[in-house]
Amino acid sequence: MRDGGLRRAVKGVALAHFRLNLAVHRAWRRLRGERPHTLAGDCGRCGACCEAPAIQVSPLTWFLPTARALFLAWQRRVNGFEWTGVDRRQRVFTFRCTHFDPATRRCDSYDSRPGPCRDYPRLQVWSAAPAFLPGCGYRAVVPNAAGLIRELAVRRLDPEREARLRRDLDLD
Ligand code: SF4
Ligand code: SF4
Repeated sequence: MRDGGLRRAVKGVALAHFRLNLAVHRAWRRLRGERPHTLAGDCGRCGACCEAPAIQVSPLTWFLPTARALFLAWQRRVNGFEWTGVDRRQRVFTFRCTHFDPATRRCDSYDSRPGPCRDYPRLQVWSAAPAFLPGCGYRAVVPNAAGLIRELAVRRLDPEREARLRRDLDLD
């Protein structure tokens, strides 16, 4: 069901908090010398990222029953995310989104979608091995791609091998 005024306001505050946290966390990672991949490609509006939204949580939310219950209640009541499963290895909860229409593959409340929806697929560029959903139009390019491409050119490999290396090493 489309978000009403009150829910949009609550989600707006939550989004500001999410963005602030994310900015601080990523600035800290940059300060520590981490360099993210570059995001390339474009959104083909396939809707795959809305089929089973997933959120990774802190150890506190994962292990503390009260924090876990509050988190899941918030996702259900505010974001319209109904809990469907977990990935224990990565502390990830997966959901079914009640705003997603599988027939049209559209979101009925796109303007007020929560932070994790807005952050996909950008969060992947911070991963050591970025992985996008099947059919997603985005891809990740390694931070030093230009230098590695120059290195390959110097080696005068046969074009097929060079193309394979560029693909396997996420250089394009
Ligand atoms: S809130 Fe909208 S953008 Fe987010 S998962 Fe649901 S349908 Fe997709
Ligand atoms: S999976 Fe990728 S291409 Fe498909 S809607 Fe989401 S961001 Fe766009």
